[in-house]
Amino acid sequence: MKNVLTQRLKTLPGPMADFIRQAGMLADEMGLPAYLVGGFVRDLLLGVGHFDVDLVVEGDGIRFARECARRLSMRLVAHGRFGTATLYGRAGFKADIASSRKESYEKPAALPTVSCGQIKDDLSRRDFTINAMAIGINQHSYGDIFDFYGGRDDLKNRVVRALHPLSFTDDPTRILRAVRFECRLAFRIEPATMAWMRCAAREGMLERVQKHRLRDELILIFKEHQPFGVLRRLHDFCGYGFISPGLTYRRAWMSAYAKIREAALWFEQNLPHKRCLDIYVMSMCLFFSPLSLRRIGDAILAYAFHKGEGLRILSFKTHAGPVERQLSKKNLAPSHIYRLLEPLAYEVIVLIYALSTKAIIRKRIRDFLLIYHGTRLHVRGEDLAGLGSRPGPHFKKVLTGLLYAKVDGKVRDRQEELVLAKRLLERS
Ligand code: ATP
Repeated sequence: MKNVLTQRLKTLPGPMADFIRQAGMLADEMGLPAYLVGGFVRDLLLGVGHFDVDLVVEGDGIRFARECARRLSMRLVAHGRFGTATLYGRAGFKADIASSRKESYEKPAALPTVSCGQIKDDLSRRDFTINAMAIGINQHSYGDIFDFYGGRDDLKNRVVRALHPLSFTDDPTRILRAVRFECRLAFRIEPATMAWMRCAAREGMLERVQKHRLRDELILIFKEHQPFGVLRRLHDFCGYGFISPGLTYRRAWMSAYAKIREAALWFEQNLPHKRCLDIYVMSMCLFFSPLSLRRIGDAILAYAFHKGEGLRILSFKTHAGPVERQLSKKNLAPSHIYRLLEPLAYEVIVLIYALSTKAIIRKRIRDFLLIYHGTRLHVRGEDLAGLGSRPGPHFKKVLTGLLYAKVDGKVRDRQEELVLAKRLLERS
């Protein structure tokens, strides 16, 4: 196994492999046992790509991270409160560094008490056996696997297994993680683990855990490749009552998600100069849309979703219906379409496009994104002042009127814009 893993570590992208080797040498110099841990080890054994390095040292992790940053010219962000640090490599990868720790849970679903520990303690506090393995990176242990809980067997048998019966009572967010890994890896949750999960859910543990911790796990679900597969499984398992009363799984979400991906691909290919779409936010808009506006607002507040996420979810709920109704009307001027769509975020527009079955709506959204949205005026505020008008709030009105005229093709060049500007100024 040692040889296989040493070999695998060599096949990582160059800068990452170099970092791991150099971090190991530095750990030797500082007399610290150091290990790769968590999802990195799982994915290395599975032979699938993993983008972040996760390191644990037996000793002061922040001091070790500082030394790595200094010697290897990496950028360091220390999270003092958690005793962890993140290093950013020039080649774009990131490495999380922590001190190995021991945890004990005094109350169900509460945060644990933490103290220093050895690697075995650190692995024993982890969620599943497949995430509870470590690989040594010191010279004498380079490529050695530390697998105290049968993680390799579970990887081989494609099983998600918790480490002990109280795992989900200690930390109910693991229920969401179990379902997420099961779906992502096409594994199955092992029967005893499933029973422990059910028991914790039945005892209302998901309602007791801090909402922001559930939020972080929910967002990770929305960011999965097949979020609605995970959400269906979660629903079969414990429903969504802990998110909002009345929210249930909809079969149509699966096909809607395929349409979202198709529309997002179209957006990316045809509008490469625009910012990347947050596809996970589009999934969130879809997920929350069956709820009333009030319930959505309550969930956003309770879970403290980030402002950008919350606003787009609310915007889709509020605007999708009215905008669709307007866009399906006959004889709409381009400037009318512009006014309807321009205030909305790309995610909301593309989601309406993805879900609409009406060709006219889809065409009008495409026209907006490809043609009207990029409309720019030659004339600016200084030009209006040059026409003899004193700057004031009416300038904005005139420039907006000019823009709409340009979107409608009524003015084409600077000269025509100036002629119309003069007329609009006289009227304002
Ligand atoms: P991903 O591929 O989604 O990033 P990951 O396994 O790297 O998966 P992280 O959320 O980055 O997941 O967490 C890193 C490691 O920390 C996990 O592999 C696991 O060992 C541990 N961990 C994370 N969350 C928990 C938790 N709630 N309870 C116990 N251990 C956890």
